[in-house]
Amino acid sequence: MARAAGADRLTDTRALGRDVLELPLLGRLLRWRYGRLIFQTLLTLAALALVVDGLSGPQAAARNLATVTPWVHYRGFVVLALLLAGNLFCMGCPFTLPRTLAKRLSLGGRRFPQRLRNKWIAIGSLFALFFLYEYLDLWASPWLTAWLILAYFGASFVMEALFTESAFCKYVCPLGSFNLVYSTLSPTQIEVRSHDVCATCVGKECVNGSYARQTLVRTDAIPIVGSDEQRQLEVVHGPEGTLGCGTELFAPQIRSNLDCTMCLDCVRACPHDNVSLFSRAPGRELGRADSWPRRWDVSLLVMALAFMGLSNAFGMVPPYYELQERLALGLGITSEFVVLLLIFGVVNLLLPLAVGVSASYLTRRLTFSYKRDSIRDTLAAYAPSFAPIGFGIWFAHYSFHLLVGPGLIVPVIQEFFGGVGDWQTWSFSVGAWLIGIIQLLALLGGFFWSMRLALNISLRRYRRKAWLAILPWAAIYLLMMSAAWQIFTLPMEMRGTLELFG
Ligand code: SF4
Ligand code: SF4
Repeated sequence: MARAAGADRLTDTRALGRDVLELPLLGRLLRWRYGRLIFQTLLTLAALALVVDGLSGPQAAARNLATVTPWVHYRGFVVLALLLAGNLFCMGCPFTLPRTLAKRLSLGGRRFPQRLRNKWIAIGSLFALFFLYEYLDLWASPWLTAWLILAYFGASFVMEALFTESAFCKYVCPLGSFNLVYSTLSPTQIEVRSHDVCATCVGKECVNGSYARQTLVRTDAIPIVGSDEQRQLEVVHGPEGTLGCGTELFAPQIRSNLDCTMCLDCVRACPHDNVSLFSRAPGRELGRADSWPRRWDVSLLVMALAFMGLSNAFGMVPPYYELQERLALGLGITSEFVVLLLIFGVVNLLLPLAVGVSASYLTRRLTFSYKRDSIRDTLAAYAPSFAPIGFGIWFAHYSFHLLVGPGLIVPVIQEFFGGVGDWQTWSFSVGAWLIGIIQLLALLGGFFWSMRLALNISLRRYRRKAWLAILPWAAIYLLMMSAAWQIFTLPMEMRGTLELFG
């Protein structure tokens, strides 16, 4: 570990939120060198249990850990954690354990190709995951889900062994991409205490790491905030050190959670104790103009994910099957693969692109800003406002599955360990009226949050023409919310719990 002895808390005059890592017990655990490892080890053991049960256990979805855990419980808890705390799943991600080993082996490895350092692969992998989920009925197959988990371990290990940065997390992983996008709504963020300290920091260990094969010692002169004096601090790099930020974020420049896996490596690597996890207003970055890069891939990732929320829910209601049949009859396509590819291709990719470009075009026309702003820049400005409505749709969907059978995991675990599952006690469901209220609140919350963001963006960019600028975006959010509500009021398949409640 490369922390300098006697490092003090140095803060400058910025208003920082509450330091989460100063909380008793939890803060100490997270700061501790092996804190994350404990969390990861527990999740890795859980993932291995899922694989074992998926490959050798009962192949009934509702009775197998491999299907009940990821498709019913995991998703519900992930959206709750993102909303209330932050990107906890990436923090404890089991797939990064073999990755860490691979990464240490790859320190002399190559950078991820420049052309691929964007979110296009992430959009593709999210599309592929949701497509395969539907096409292969992954929720109904413990065996296939187990293989999916194994494929995840393999892919993350290979990619981290080949490349120096955490390319899998940042550019490929669909689960991570979901978490990274919606952690932008979370109430926590990595920040530095003092920018003055960063300005004189020699090693920039938060991004470069403090890990070295052989011990190396140097002395840093660090300013004492509020005084002209400096403090001499010894910095040690060595085999006990920490790798720097895997997604290559530089702590003093972080404005967004977009690529932060909350691994806290920067906290452990900083020799000056200058980085921590702070509380903030939920979604604070979404209201700032400079938080996100103005890139097509980033904008379309956020928009596509919101539309994927709609199509994913739509795939579980009767009109979806009617549409499938009509398309098959109308176009004469008998292959389910092709029909599904067509529906998902249109709803998940073409629609967000067409809607985003059209709304940007209209906003530029209505405000006469078409000479000043490109379509790309206009889309990038409004893209953050798609995060809340998208999250609201996913939250409404995932909370439905969780609340329909919140206790089911107990008898499944009992049976996994060879006991008798107490299905009678644990097969309860939260009242349909309460689930409906939660879904409605999630949709309304997402809608009004998005509207507020879009209004602020419009005021910032177009001032008195803001009411014209917002019109296309308001229409989109209204249509998305209405479509989602229509879907959630239809009878929805209770995937993973069907055998018990159906
Ligand atoms: S966060 Fe720490 S390691 Fe990074 S630049 Fe600042 S002082 Fe240096
Ligand atoms: S090292 Fe720090 S900034 Fe980078 S992903 Fe981990 S927690 Fe986020």
